[in-house]
Amino acid sequence: MQDVLIIGAGPAGLSAALWCDELGLDTLLLEGGAEVGGQLHWIHHPVENYLGLRAENGRELRDLFAARVEEAGFDLWTGVEIESIDVRSKRVRLASGEELQSIFLVVAMGLRRRRLGVPGEAEFAGRGMIESAARDRELFAGRDVCVVGGGDAAVENALLLAEVCPTVTLVHRGKKLRARAEFVERLQGTHCVTVFKEAELVSVLGGERVEAVEIRRRGAIKPFQMAVGGVLVRAGYEPNTELLGGQLETDERGYARVNSEQETSAENVFAVGDVASPLAPTIAGAAGAGATAAKVIAARLNGATK
Ligand SMILES: Cc1cc2nc3c(=O)[nH]c(=O)nc-3n(C[C@H](O)[C@H](O)[C@H](O)COP(=O)(O)OP(=O)(O)OC[C@H]3O[C@@H](n4cnc5c(N)ncnc54)[C@H](O)[C@@H]3O)c2cc1C
Repeated sequence: MQDVLIIGAGPAGLSAALWCDELGLDTLLLEGGAEVGGQLHWIHHPVENYLGLRAENGRELRDLFAARVEEAGFDLWTGVEIESIDVRSKRVRLASGEELQSIFLVVAMGLRRRRLGVPGEAEFAGRGMIESAARDRELFAGRDVCVVGGGDAAVENALLLAEVCPTVTLVHRGKKLRARAEFVERLQGTHCVTVFKEAELVSVLGGERVEAVEIRRRGAIKPFQMAVGGVLVRAGYEPNTELLGGQLETDERGYARVNSEQETSAENVFAVGDVASPLAPTIAGAAGAGATAAKVIAARLNGATK
């Protein structure tokens, strides 16, 4: 029996664990991935908005966080597959069969990329579906590609692919791109990029690999086909709350509802970071929420409040 079980080792979970450890609580941090850091792995631009630090990219910031965590030396398990979470008893069952229990539970499972759910998207994973332009664009050099989405991530990836691909088609459901002005301006000056607004990707087609996409423009009855050798989807994010299966109050999109002390609707269960921040997902916010939850938990354990 631990004092605190924290699930998810992104900035929120790391901060919660660091604070819990410093406050003398018996803490275990569980991470599903092979490494800590969460979405920091996906940030390829310089991070300049985290107070007091400047990093070339998310990876560099992750390394700083990981070094601090290693120094603190609290219990951290990575590569953990959680089978179920029982919020009432605070029992977490792992796929390995192990069962863990704690007095307090901190949910810090962050977000995942939203999938479109169209035919071909899952089938062509690893065979023409591009996970990250920053990481994989050389593999797609010389191929025509399609990017889906209209926010910062979609436009940034389209710009990166435009450096090595003959044509990039950006497909966006809305009337206007939502990406920051700087990205949109750069896009407008990049001749190999075509933007289809008010259009949707309907399916991904191919044989061994991706060979084409079907796109439907708003108002059109039939989609049209376009030959491409790669497809990248950046259609927003969704919270990783499905393991909690209705045991916590969430909003209509599945984000955990919390009060100002990061408490959820379930007793002694806290949610921190993006999983509980539909409007303001930031590294600073995640780190702050983790600290708040830890301080409140320590106060509760010491009988200071409630
Ligand atoms: C492209 C991009 C650029 C960004 N740029 C900035 C920026 O410039 N400045 C800024 O402040 N923010 C930025 N952000 C947002 C910032 O990265 C997030 O707000 C922050 O990472 C949230 O931290 P978190 O710990 O709440 O969640 P996450 O970082 O999502 O971490 C959640 C962790 O939980 C783990 N997890 C999930 N489910 C399970 C499970 N079932 N079992 C075990 N572990 C699980 C995940 O593997 C992950 O490690 C950016 C995000 C992206 C995607």
